[in-house]
Amino acid sequence: MLSEASSVQSPTVSIRRRTCVVCGSSTLNSYVTSFTRVPDKQEQWVTVLANGDAGFEDQLKASLATGRKYICYDHFDRQYFAQRKTDDGFELIRNRNPMAFVSYSFTGIF
Ligand SMILES: [Zn+2]
Repeated sequence: MLSEASSVQSPTVSIRRRTCVVCGSSTLNSYVTSFTRVPDKQEQWVTVLANGDAGFEDQLKASLATGRKYICYDHFDRQYFAQRKTDDGFELIRNRNPMAFVSYSFTGIF
């Protein structure tokens, strides 16, 4: 009887994922950036992202209060990215603010 295939444990090459605090999607580690921890900036980002939605703003603030959070690149304008030289990914140019978050179910934009 054959022994069970020795469990070949792949060397810790698990693809890391982060949950975006804004849209809640689980995103590749390379496609998120830390949500700013600078109080003034955080306030500014939250205001921009919430875009007048007080409920969403409160929710975001509550999440941010619990610790380090991440925001995916979908919330930044494409022009704020630079191609990485060593990698084939994109990198956010520092000190850029995100855009207003418009949930995909929201169709009243026009
Ligand atoms: Zn996101």
